[in-house]
Amino acid sequence: MARDLAVSTLERFRKRLEEEQVRLGEIIRDIEAEREEVRLTETSSDRSPDPNTAEGGSLAFEMEKELSLWQNTQDILAMVEESLSRIDEGTYGKCEVCGGSIPVARLDALPYTKLCVDCAASRR
Ligand SMILES: [Zn+2]
Repeated sequence: MARDLAVSTLERFRKRLEEEQVRLGEIIRDIEAEREEVRLTETSSDRSPDPNTAEGGSLAFEMEKELSLWQNTQDILAMVEESLSRIDEGTYGKCEVCGGSIPVARLDALPYTKLCVDCAASRR
């Protein structure tokens, strides 16, 4: 039988998720600002990076790394926002697959998880 989380526990996670939402939003803004800067530098001069030179190649690599960091951060932010709406709906802390309750210890480690340990393991 799935047991609901105590209101105080839910509020604790809501606070953590809201802090995480702010933090991730800042990371995304930083990356976007940096990319915009690189783009402006590239278009305003004829020194566009040539991937065949060492310098251009490493810049392209850096941008690719930033892009995947940006993508990952966006993904986590989406999960954090979904978790916040799940708190509002009263479904937070319940496994999306089996409906069982996710242990608080697991939520402490991964506040935005939607799966219990068993379901997360069987997805791999
Ligand atoms: Zn489950």
